[in-house]
Amino acid sequence: MAGLTQKSVQYLKGVGEKRAGFYRKLGVETTLDLLYHFPRGYIDLSAPYRVGEAPVFEPCAVRAVLNYKSGEQRIRGGLSIFRLLASDHTGELELTIFNAKYTVERLELDTEYIFYGKLTGSLLRREMSSPDIYPAVTSTRILPVYPQTAGLSSRAIAANVSQMSQDIAEIPDAIPPAMREEEDLPELAVALRDIHFPPDQDSANAARRRFIFEELLTLSCALETSRMAHRKAKIQPMEPVDFTALFSSLPFSPTGAQLSCIATAGADMTGDVPMNRIIQGDVGSGKTLVALACAYMAAKNSRQSTVMVPTAILAEQHYTTMSKMLAPFGMRVELLTGSVQAARRRKILAELKAGEIDLLVGTHALLSDGVEFARLGLVVTDEQHRFGVAQRAKLSQKNESAHLLVMSATPIPRTLSLIIYGDLSLSVLDEKPPGRQPIETLLIDGGKRARAMGFVRQNLDEGRQAYIVCPLIEAGELADNLRPATEYAADLSDGELRGYRVGLLHGKMKAKDKEDTMRRFKAGEIQVLVSTTVVEVGVDVPGATIIMIENAERFGLSQLHQLRGRVGRGTDKSWCILVTDSKDPVTLRRLEVMKAESDGFKIAEEDLSIRGPGDFFGRRQHGLPTLKVADLADDISIMQRAQAQAKALLTRDFALALPEHQALAERVGNLLHSVGERPN
Ligand code: ADP
Ligand code: MG
Repeated sequence: MAGLTQKSVQYLKGVGEKRAGFYRKLGVETTLDLLYHFPRGYIDLSAPYRVGEAPVFEPCAVRAVLNYKSGEQRIRGGLSIFRLLASDHTGELELTIFNAKYTVERLELDTEYIFYGKLTGSLLRREMSSPDIYPAVTSTRILPVYPQTAGLSSRAIAANVSQMSQDIAEIPDAIPPAMREEEDLPELAVALRDIHFPPDQDSANAARRRFIFEELLTLSCALETSRMAHRKAKIQPMEPVDFTALFSSLPFSPTGAQLSCIATAGADMTGDVPMNRIIQGDVGSGKTLVALACAYMAAKNSRQSTVMVPTAILAEQHYTTMSKMLAPFGMRVELLTGSVQAARRRKILAELKAGEIDLLVGTHALLSDGVEFARLGLVVTDEQHRFGVAQRAKLSQKNESAHLLVMSATPIPRTLSLIIYGDLSLSVLDEKPPGRQPIETLLIDGGKRARAMGFVRQNLDEGRQAYIVCPLIEAGELADNLRPATEYAADLSDGELRGYRVGLLHGKMKAKDKEDTMRRFKAGEIQVLVSTTVVEVGVDVPGATIIMIENAERFGLSQLHQLRGRVGRGTDKSWCILVTDSKDPVTLRRLEVMKAESDGFKIAEEDLSIRGPGDFFGRRQHGLPTLKVADLADDISIMQRAQAQAKALLTRDFALALPEHQALAERVGNLLHSVGERPN
């Protein structure tokens, strides 16, 4: 129990400091962590194939009699190889084994073995390279295969796990017994045994399903706790306001979609329950104005607002636009990010608490202790999918009785959005501001890069600006043909872009330097911004008309769409140049979609149909913690069950205080504390 939870894996026999280090790399510190380190699959020796019937190109077990062993053959690099032949009445199997003298010496001719591995070759000549070899008669028929790590074989992990079989019964079950029965799930001790050492495939599946449920139940409880508190809060209704003065001070007229979103949100805020609304609008659809109008309404009602965004750059940008627009009405806007100096920060916090600030724009620095409002009325989160669960939960815990407005450019299917956001009302900004020129998208290979650069230079000469995006930043993280942005920027300013003002922006820079670079780009001091995906989120520089994206195949379509949305924000024609050397037809088809389609929602659908859900909802896209067993795309129905159970359970025991909810409460607490997920 608690003891086992706390105990380091080093307490296990055979686990010294070195192996504990390997385990730590897997996120396994305690023996409980180890029990929850699940196999990614199994080697099934229970029904081995005959040689002639075994499938090719997928791992399988083949049972055959060993007929021949070659002597050791030396090949280059100090490697040694052995060749073996095995057969049954259906065919012959040729085996190649590397560097395993001892293993081969122990094998006996004319004896039956099970060879496990991937078959290649033809029907007449089957081959298997580096098979796992087991005696034909073994007691364990289904063996766990753990996620690969240097220094830790699956056999070693399995041995460590099996040392704990005695302790398993003592671990408290996070799923209350009644719920477990209702959901027809095995109890913890059984499931732990079956997920590591299943007697058959069905037991393994049942165990896995249980752990998926357990994980999603924990997640649901974490998400629902803060939501239910928000829904239950009673607040003082705001008076409706006349937006005419605000609108007529803008350099443009609001679109019909903006007007109707503002009207709907405004109506929500005149109610006595907190608003819980998401504004979904493609990049460039003008979501900022909706937030601004709501903050304006709150201020008119003597209520404070806060806008939380994922990056300092975006915070600064919102701060600049919003303070400019609200200042004429005597409303005060302040900025709070991690890089605000201590003295200034103290001053802001004091004024905030005194109610002198109407709107506070910031990053997750807004969540830190000491940020207290006098009378908070509205919380806006922009690019919400970039925040982690913990941050989201903390935000709503801090502001149970404020209106909540979520802005997102990432369309998410309803089922998934229910899970991530709960019962949000949805408003869609489905109209672009007028006068936007469509962005022309080109797809080129590396051979045409020089010409594309010429085109970039020509545009710079005519006074416009450009982004050049590359996927990664540092050596070490790199695949072969990718260059670090730093090196790349240096090469460009010494070569193809010599004489132009080239700036560099990447996620590992200090927040202050990032802000500084961005400010200089906005001001036109920097002509070309070489950047990683940090510019993906919401940045608005109307003078930029070209975005060139290197290694475009490395990005998801929705991400490319976000990036492309960085241009086409002014009145000049804009270009998006996708560069790829990929020859893969699926990749090229995916990228072709970008040429034909400019609607972010349609692009998301295409992405989904080409790549499949698992890829599309790349974990970080929605800000949920990395799930260990569950997959939000595949396990939607289990998630729905878990969410329903979580709601029912919290209705009965909101604080998870009952003894039978102790174990679950502990898990939920761990989840909320462990999620240190940060946007880049
Ligand atoms: P989003 O956050 O939805 O991507 P923004 O709010 O940043 O979009 O708006 C994109 C750009 O469009 C900004 O430069 C903004 O000033 C401008 N804009 C917003 N609404 C309108 C409008 N109704 N007419 C013209 N331009 C607009
Ligand atoms: Mg925006």
